[in-house]
Parts: sequence; C-alpha cells; structure tokens
Amino acid sequence: MQSNAIEVSDHPAEECGIFGVYGVSGAAGLIHRGLFSLQHRGQEGCGIVVSDGEHVRSHKGQGLVSEVFADPSVLPSDWNRGIGHVRYSTTGSTRIHNVQPLVVECVDGIWSLAHNGNLTNADKLRRMYQDAGAIFQTSTDSEVLVHILADPMYRRRPQRVARALAELHGAFSFLIMTKDCVMAARDPHGFRPLSIGRVGDGYVFASETCAMAQTGATYLRDVEPGELVTIDETGLHSSMFADPPEHKAHCVFEMVYFARPDSMVFGRNVHAVRMLYGACLAKEHPVEADIVIAVPDSGNSAALGYSRTSGIPFDFGFIRNHYIGRTFIMPQVEKRAASVDMKLAVLPEVVRGKRVVVVDDSIVRGTTIRHRVAWLRSAGAVEVHVRISCPPVAHPCFYGIDFPTREELIAGGQSVEEIREFIGADTLGYLSEEGLLSPFENAPDYCKACFSGVYPLDVEGQGDKSRHESLSPELPFQ
Ligand code: AMP
Repeated sequence: MQSNAIEVSDHPAEECGIFGVYGVSGAAGLIHRGLFSLQHRGQEGCGIVVSDGEHVRSHKGQGLVSEVFADPSVLPSDWNRGIGHVRYSTTGSTRIHNVQPLVVECVDGIWSLAHNGNLTNADKLRRMYQDAGAIFQTSTDSEVLVHILADPMYRRRPQRVARALAELHGAFSFLIMTKDCVMAARDPHGFRPLSIGRVGDGYVFASETCAMAQTGATYLRDVEPGELVTIDETGLHSSMFADPPEHKAHCVFEMVYFARPDSMVFGRNVHAVRMLYGACLAKEHPVEADIVIAVPDSGNSAALGYSRTSGIPFDFGFIRNHYIGRTFIMPQVEKRAASVDMKLAVLPEVVRGKRVVVVDDSIVRGTTIRHRVAWLRSAGAVEVHVRISCPPVAHPCFYGIDFPTREELIAGGQSVEEIREFIGADTLGYLSEEGLLSPFENAPDYCKACFSGVYPLDVEGQGDKSRHESLSPELPFQ
C-alpha cells in the first residue's frame, strides 16, 4: 500500500450513480425508478440502455431523470435487461457525449458501460491508445475501458473483462452489458459502493441500497472489492480480477455527505452513522445553547445526534425548498450561489433571541455556511455556534468526489480560527478524525484522504494538473 501526502490541485472528477437489471421484464421502468432514487448522486445528465438479448436501445440526455425520461415510452417497456447512469462532473461535463451509459459497437457486438468513480491512470491509457490510432468519442475517463476491451490483446484471450479491469487504477464501480449478460465490478479498494439485489428471478445492481428499496428489490449483498459479478441466463457467477490490497479504502465522504441516509453503504446505515457523528461532535465540542438546528438535508441526522447527546432541543431553524436540486451538484459556481439563496429560508420564530447550534455535514469553500450564519443573525439569533460533522476538508479527492483545488478549499490554507472568523460564527467545531472513524470496527478500511492528505493509492501525476488541464479536453463538437 502506498501512502503519500500530496499537496496538489484538483482534476476532473465524477460523482455518479449506476443501476442495472438482468432477467426482469420491464427493465426500462425498473432502471428509471432506480435512477430516480439515485438522483442525489448526479443531476447533470442521465441515460438508460436496455436489451432483449438481440437488440439494444438507449436514451440519454442532459438534465434530471424526470426530464430526460418525461416520455416513458421512449424505450421498449418489456425488455428484460439494461443499465442506467446519473451523472455529475466538473469539466468536459455538459456535453451529451459524456452522458452515460456509453454504448459502443465492437467487432463482437454492442457493449454498454456505466461508471461511478475516477480512474487515476485514465490519461496514461488514453494517450497510449490515441498514439496507436484510437479515436475517443468522449472526454470521460470511463471510455478507456472500452478501448482495452476492444484491444485484440484482451479481446482474443480468456477472461477478457477481468483482465481489462485489472489494468485500471483508481476508483471504479462499473456496470457492463453485452448481448448475453450484465456484469458488475468494483475496484480492489472498494472506494465506491455497489450492491446486488433480487427481484423475482432476476437481479439488480445499485450504487446505493435506497434504490433497491424503492424498486421493490431485496438486498442480497455488496459486490466485493476486486470482484467481477456476471449475470447471464445460467445465473450469477463471481470471480476476482485483482488481489485484495492490505486495506480497503471505502470513501468515508459517502458516509459524511454523499449517500442517502436510508442507504446501507459499506454495510452500515448512513443515517445511523451520521447520528453517531452528531453524538461525537456534541462530546468533542459542547456549548451552552438553546436550540440545535440542521442545515437541511445534509446536516439532519448529525444535528439530531448532537441534540440527543447534548440534551439541547432540536428544532427546525431552516426550511428547505424541495423543488430545487442539490446545490453543489450544479458545477458552475454562479449557478450554485444563486440556487443556494433559493434553497433555504430561515424561520425567525424559531431562532429569534436564541443561542443556536447549527449543524452541517462539511465546509468546502465556506461560502454557503457563511451566508447561513448571516441569515441566522439577521433573523435574530443571539449566538451562532457552527458544528461540522467531519474534519476540515483540506485536500482534493482523486477517487471520484468533486472537491475544488486545494487553494479553493477554505481549510486548504486557513486555520479553524480563521475559518470561524470568515463564516462569522461565535464558535466553530469540526469532528475529529478519530470521531470520523469511531463508528467503524474496520477503520483502516476507510479512505480519508480529503481530510488527511494521505492517499491510499498513487494518483499518478494527476496532482500536477489543474482541474482545467485534463488530457481529455473538450472535443470540438457538441
Ligand atoms: P461550500 O462550503 O459553500 O463550498 O459548500 C459546502 C456544502 O456543500 C456542504 O455543506 C455539503 O452539503 C455540500 N458538499 C460538500 N462537498 C460536496 C461535494 N463534493 N459534492 C457535492 N456537494 C458537496
């Protein structure tokens, strides 16, 4: 295992959700519902590919699942297999070409792919194939897998998919569909979640179990790190495509922020873990106050945990407009700033004259919490104590969570006291790293690089690039 503290800038990253089905008539409808439940993982574009074993149809577009699939008859309703994707990305992003699943025609048929994560050796592989004459259709890192699969070196040998996956470094949960089967694979470190469920005689795959509950599927198990699961007409087959590393590297930020509270992620219920974070915060950073409020929805569970442990009553200090999407998921900063203002409203009747503890999941640039502290004060709060249910985010992520450059991360260059002053809070308390890992018996199996700067896997020179200098630039067509 390689551990190296790296002081670097960011690069294109993707936070996505994937959902797949095999052996269930009406796969398109099921995937539609699955993606709808995974919408929080990406709001920029989405797509579904379905097959009846002979033919393949796909539909994708930019926007929310409800927008792209406003007409449900756009795909055949009775085909029995398929995969889908919701996408968020930071650069090269708003192009329809980058919306997944990728669908390609190889010499041996049509392959479809959906990816969640970020490949750290994608630029190297892309350059290698481009040097050899390959033409790339997208600027996503995911497309390199297509080229490896089509490479005669792999195509003509047994265990082609396993061998191709073994070439990839970084974070990946992949769904792959051929005319015969649907496959699911997870990188050997298990950075991103991926689980398997059953519906009748068929199977589903989902980034998070919340999508299973909402599609009537029953959770079976997780795809193991380093495992390739293939489902075809003979059933489920499993093989390992890589040896397990000494420690896994489950992304702890899935627990802090990204995953939905009703999901089981890495074997733990997300809401329960966040409650523990709140409880731990209350012990690490107690304060005399009248009410505890959450920044909804990201701070809800931790705020409840803080309230129960501190004994300070919980109340609703902010009301959220549910008709606006997840703010951070809008890549352009201007769009974010405008929608932050539209997203929350303060309840002056709750906070006026009160000493308020406000709990949120994380501070990235610090702009949103700063606004919120100001609103609370103008609504009459006499003290505002900010509690954050993770340590300071001080380092970029190379494994699929979109954080800005270290320079843009407020904790990248400023102390807690300087951040407190910037956001205008009376006190500011972050959860410690020990607190962050305290819910887990297998704490060494979690990646916390965004807090510690210690990366569990080499980032292969990506840190030298700015986020706008990818080797996979915007292609000249739209
Ligand atoms: P800010 O400090 O203004 O940059 O925004 C921080 C807020 O954005 C946090 O409270 C989270 O709710 C949310 N957030 C943090 N990290 C991410 C991320 N990587 N992707 C999407 N949203 C995030």
